[in-house]
Amino acid sequence: MSRVVSFHYTLTDSKGEKLDSSFGHEPLTFMEGVGQIIPGLEKELATLKVKEKKKVVVPAKDAYGLRDNKFLVEVPRANFPPDVKLGDEFQAKDDEHGHPLKVIKLSETHVTLDANHPLAGMDLTFDVEMIEIREATKEEVAHGHAHGAHGHHH
Ligand code: ZN
Repeated sequence: MSRVVSFHYTLTDSKGEKLDSSFGHEPLTFMEGVGQIIPGLEKELATLKVKEKKKVVVPAKDAYGLRDNKFLVEVPRANFPPDVKLGDEFQAKDDEHGHPLKVIKLSETHVTLDANHPLAGMDLTFDVEMIEIREATKEEVAHGHAHGAHGHHH
């Protein structure tokens, strides 16, 4: 049986800087075994009971992966606005939901974009609190994802 798990989390990077938190909002809800959340976190959450809290440190390779030079893309400068500068971010046209690509190098003729996930290469710390664990509904199993803590549809 698949389980649907809801939990609260605060995410900090390896420097202790807070990146994100669900506390004060809806908990994050996911279905186990389908890759909805990063594997290193899913594995640890599977050991928690409702109301249990834990600090989970996920190494980069089990989080958003290591940085990879194959995700650096060189594009002719003519494709960019004339005032393009280092650190500018662009959304790839064919990938509206993806993360933005960041300008990391400029030459006379080319712009180098970094398409690595912004959290790639980072060890992440999650302070988690387990909120709810339930069986997945038939509909959720059929769709391959959770439909939220209260079963609302997307
Ligand atoms: Zn669905």
